[in-house]
Amino acid sequence: MNADTAIPSTPPEGGGAAQAFDAIVIGAGFAGLYMLVRLRALGLRARALEAGDGVGGTWYWNRYPGARCDVESLQYSYSFSEELQQEWQWTERYPRQDEILRYINHVADRFDLRRDIALNTRASAAHYDEGRQRWSVRTEGGERFEARFLISAAGCLSAARIPEVTGLSSFQGPWYHTGNWPHQAVDFSGQRVGVIGTGSSGIQLIPTIARQAREVVVFQRTPNFSIPAWNRPLPADEQKAWKAQYAAHRQKARATRSGILYDYSLRASAEATEEERQQEYERRWLRGGANFTHAFNDIYSNQAANDSAAEFVRNKIRATVRDADTATRLAPTDHAIGTKRICVDSDYFQTYNQPHVSLVDLRETPITAIVADGIRTASRHFPLDRIVFATGYDAVTGALDRIDIRGLGGLALKDKWAHGPRTYLGLMSAGFPNLFLITGPGSPSILTNVVVAIEQHVDLIARCLDHMQQQQLSVAQPMMDAEDDWVTHVNQVASKTLFTKSNSWYMGANIPGKPRVFLPYIGGLQNYTTICEEVVAAGYRGFRMTSG
Ligand code: NAP
Repeated sequence: MNADTAIPSTPPEGGGAAQAFDAIVIGAGFAGLYMLVRLRALGLRARALEAGDGVGGTWYWNRYPGARCDVESLQYSYSFSEELQQEWQWTERYPRQDEILRYINHVADRFDLRRDIALNTRASAAHYDEGRQRWSVRTEGGERFEARFLISAAGCLSAARIPEVTGLSSFQGPWYHTGNWPHQAVDFSGQRVGVIGTGSSGIQLIPTIARQAREVVVFQRTPNFSIPAWNRPLPADEQKAWKAQYAAHRQKARATRSGILYDYSLRASAEATEEERQQEYERRWLRGGANFTHAFNDIYSNQAANDSAAEFVRNKIRATVRDADTATRLAPTDHAIGTKRICVDSDYFQTYNQPHVSLVDLRETPITAIVADGIRTASRHFPLDRIVFATGYDAVTGALDRIDIRGLGGLALKDKWAHGPRTYLGLMSAGFPNLFLITGPGSPSILTNVVVAIEQHVDLIARCLDHMQQQQLSVAQPMMDAEDDWVTHVNQVASKTLFTKSNSWYMGANIPGKPRVFLPYIGGLQNYTTICEEVVAAGYRGFRMTSG
């Protein structure tokens, strides 16, 4: 397949001549970069459009104090190049944001990817021209790009969300969102800081800010379960031993449900005695990380099993936090453990034992307004110098919704997905030919080590494009019945778990008006991969591929 020459087209609303490519990739984070590698290997001319002024996606934007990945370094990295995985040296068990960003920049340089990336270029619209079988993409800066293939690498947690609170514009101090943090270090020394939100970001940020600030007031709507990270430096011999078996570790990880080498128990909770259960929880607590919820194989599906694991964590919180009232407020009781993304922390609960850190329970006293010098709740006024929003994202569909994507007949993707996203395999959506979604809704994506899910999807897309090249096919899209069946399957699998009972971002519940649908595929990465392989082996069953 050759690059098309620049030809006038019907772009979304005017603009100059379009720059023509074979493929446009939206985003230059983990997904976008690896997609570029694979497109280049296919001989396709590609351009990645990246909103930031650097590569890295999530790890470019999330520079907040304490930002760290809760998947271990040696696993949260690309596997596609043996040289890369051998040469890069990680320094800690869990990688810090700046280390991951250095790694991603290293990848961009090592594979000479920068020449195919347009920075400071945010895609604002993408329209499909059926007659010419081209996607026409417009950017916020008014540039136009055209390509046969449009590939979203826009990320699942990239559409940062500030909740609507009366009076934010009247606040006279600086305020921040964790997902759009300034590039210059923010100094909280001597400051009174209000933090809204106690999800993974807030739980990492609060202890770190508390080390600097004069006062920290945490505004909590829902408490979260969190497991200690027990982060530590990564000894050279441990890293060397792991790398000696890297390929085998990666293969094993891909054969798990989450793409992470956790210690998955094969036992149901009820098969153990109470004493054995407590021992098992304690063992996992001391090991640290999200491995905890795999202590028994029915924690996500059996309420009693879940209650038992949840109570263990609540007891740990009560034993850690000295003030009994604060401990009660920090101990989650409104959702099953793990059904809101479990957090991994360093000294989160201990932080509340410090005299300058306090907790405000918004369920009791909601925020009524942000005012010039702080935050007002139903019961009192909190004077603050700075406010941090750790209020999360319009997850999975948000980044796509923010682009005006139109397929056949001018249908907007947002309208097609008004009652919940509809995809085949989380990879494509009928009516949007040649639009591929890396870790799209209905794929395992954010339920996994997302780098593993990204590599699986990018490889699949690359193989599909290769197949199309070989067969001289120019257009691919899913068949409607295949898509309908997949959506039904995604919902059925989710309904067998406790996840659908929770008001989580997995369910779209954090965004007012968003349809209540379980967004990722919870059937397991290993099962999902098997399904994809069967689809490919059956000649891309469920896809319609046609030539010019
Ligand atoms: P989040 O999990 O969605 O948490 C947002 C927090 O803000 C919640 O406590 C939420 O309360 C609160 N909130 C939202 N709107 C509010 C409002 N109007 N008033 C008061 N509180 C409000 O977002 P996040 O912490 O940024 O994490 C998102 C995801 O990113 C994580 O689940 C994880 O997948 C990923 N992440 C990973 C890491 C890591 O690897 N360590 C770190 C950060 C993020 P409710 O619960 O009541 O809605």
